[in-house]
Amino acid sequence: MNILVLNCGSSSLKFQLIATDLERIEQNADQRLASGMIDRIGGAAILNFAVEGQMMEKSAMPIRDIPSALDAITKWISAQSIEGINNLGDIDAVGHRVVHGGEHFSKSVLISDDVLRAIEDCIELAPLHNPANVKGIQAVREIFGKALPQAAVFDTAFHQTLPEKAFLYAIPYQLYRRHKVRRYGFHGTSHRYVAYQYRMINNIPRENVNVITLHLGNGCSIAAIKGGNSIDTSMGLTPLEGLVMGTRSGDLDAAILEFISAKEGLTIHEIEMLLNKQSGLLGISGLTNDMRELLAEMEESGDRRARLAIEIFCYRVSKYLGAYLAAMNGTDSIIFAGGIGENSPKIRAMICENLKWFGITLDESKNSAHVGGREGVISTEDSRTEICVIPTNEELLIARDTVRLIFNKI
Ligand code: ADP
Repeated sequence: MNILVLNCGSSSLKFQLIATDLERIEQNADQRLASGMIDRIGGAAILNFAVEGQMMEKSAMPIRDIPSALDAITKWISAQSIEGINNLGDIDAVGHRVVHGGEHFSKSVLISDDVLRAIEDCIELAPLHNPANVKGIQAVREIFGKALPQAAVFDTAFHQTLPEKAFLYAIPYQLYRRHKVRRYGFHGTSHRYVAYQYRMINNIPRENVNVITLHLGNGCSIAAIKGGNSIDTSMGLTPLEGLVMGTRSGDLDAAILEFISAKEGLTIHEIEMLLNKQSGLLGISGLTNDMRELLAEMEESGDRRARLAIEIFCYRVSKYLGAYLAAMNGTDSIIFAGGIGENSPKIRAMICENLKWFGITLDESKNSAHVGGREGVISTEDSRTEICVIPTNEELLIARDTVRLIFNKI
């Protein structure tokens, strides 16, 4: 089957076309056929498309909205010679990354009118993200017809196993009852994929998976996974809480909002934007949200604030690791994933520096050897707990879930 995986954001649309079916899933023989991204939707958009194994095609054109972006993608796919795709009729289903599933969804689902309404219900919990997902689903119906199966794979679903003590904030309980104010957690597809790969690599049953997974990309989060289930995670009601990220602050004192509002004359909405878009690595360094660039600045020109941003980033991750070692009463593995986690030995080393007291130690040469999507163990033989790198692949999990749903295997 050919599955189109879509990740619709407020101003971007990423896609992958993946050939997979139940047999290929079993044999880990799924195949990516094409991928791409449209950025700056709503204005002069930038398009980057590639058939697998070929050069990336870059172009620019005005793209108004998500339906127009999907139109551009489907036209491009139709014009390529891609194995098994002669026309759009060869696309068998679409899988969507949906950011917020609230308490409605603890698993991926096929999209019906009821499901679409429930996703719309979650818009108030994720006003920046869910509207784009809804538009993406509607655009697929327009272009492919309503009969084409579409699946929703939620960022929040994997974390629905959190116990109350981990998901409730210590604020009046009525706020949870009335408005569902609680920790939901995000990046669930990534944490779930990484935990699944760990299980495959080690050939153990799901209920024996006791790991801490670190997704360190533009957005960053950490999850404590016990008996195969997520029992705690750092992101909250929204993806703002927890670790320091590219442009998000992560944890802070809620009283800061009122204080900044008074001092800077900003509205709550403006401050929320500042915490989401101008904080984190970018805010501290004043330079960039890109970890690669910050590392280069620190190493080449010794920039003080670049170093500070990196130190604060790593310190926050170390603190969460300590907390989650306690939350889980120990773990079998600490797993790094995401653009930073998979590619930066330096950041991994800085994070693990303070784990020595626990008897958890990195092997320097193994650590430096694991870059560029190479999975493997990076701790010393005598480390109390293994540390490893497992590249994440959210799109693959979305394609697989879509297939499993069609065959009723979820
Ligand atoms: P997203 O969360 O948007 O999926 P990624 O997982 O691709 O993003 O992560 C992007 C981050 O990974 C950026 O900060 C980028 O600088 C960082 N990154 C990628 N390669 C490296 C590298 N070799 N060293 C350090 N950071 C890297």
